[in-house]
Amino acid sequence: MPDNSTSIAARLIQVRERIAAAEQRFGRQPGSVRLLAVSKTQPPAAIRDAYRAGQHAFGENYLQEAAAKQAGLADLPLEWHCIGPVQANKARNVAEHFDWVHSVDRIRLARRLSAYRPENLPPLNVLLQVNISGEASKSGVSPAELSELAAEVAALPRLRLRGLMCIPAPAADFEQQRRPFRQLRELRDRLHNEGYIMDTLSMGMSDDLEAAIAEGATIVRIGTAIFGARPPRAA
Ligand SMILES: *Cc1c(COP(=O)(O)O)cnc(C)c1O
Repeated sequence: MPDNSTSIAARLIQVRERIAAAEQRFGRQPGSVRLLAVSKTQPPAAIRDAYRAGQHAFGENYLQEAAAKQAGLADLPLEWHCIGPVQANKARNVAEHFDWVHSVDRIRLARRLSAYRPENLPPLNVLLQVNISGEASKSGVSPAELSELAAEVAALPRLRLRGLMCIPAPAADFEQQRRPFRQLRELRDRLHNEGYIMDTLSMGMSDDLEAAIAEGATIVRIGTAIFGARPPRAA
């Protein structure tokens, strides 16, 4: 039986080393890429192990599952990122229980998140999920509609527009992996030119984090490489 806590700590070190190596190789500032540990389907004990190994930011996809874990881990000063699709009727839950949302792709959702963000919390950090070519999921705003969504989100009082996110389809080689990440960076640059200050590009997962860092990722979302293969999703 492998000792899971040791292996989570050991894998975290490996992932941090991969990030540092990619920063160096691609001329990125050391420490400019943040590690988001994607803990979906992982038990609270795994999150505690990662926390003890120095990891503070965790990403969750499924809101019901996340709520149970957040309650059980309330004694830890964790930063929670919602990275999965959000139905409008779940906006309140997200606005109340998360620090970041990576998956805002429509104005109706953004308005609800802003309306429900509690006054005693800082504005909710928001990334716009973009459906670039080769996107694995159907979610995400199209590049053509991105500027309009950015304008609406930037005007909402309880949201802080931080940047863009994408989930490309798996690609065969490094150059192919880079292509959608480059597109997302170029969209971010376009928004910069339109006057939006965005400091965040959320892109790169266990299999393509180097390609994402090469193209300017500032948050990589890593699950499998930290926690091992995911157990089947409960409920
Ligand atoms: C599951 C998931 C990840 C992590 O994927 P790994 O390949 O396990 O690193 C990252 N981002 C999103 C949106 C996910 O759903």
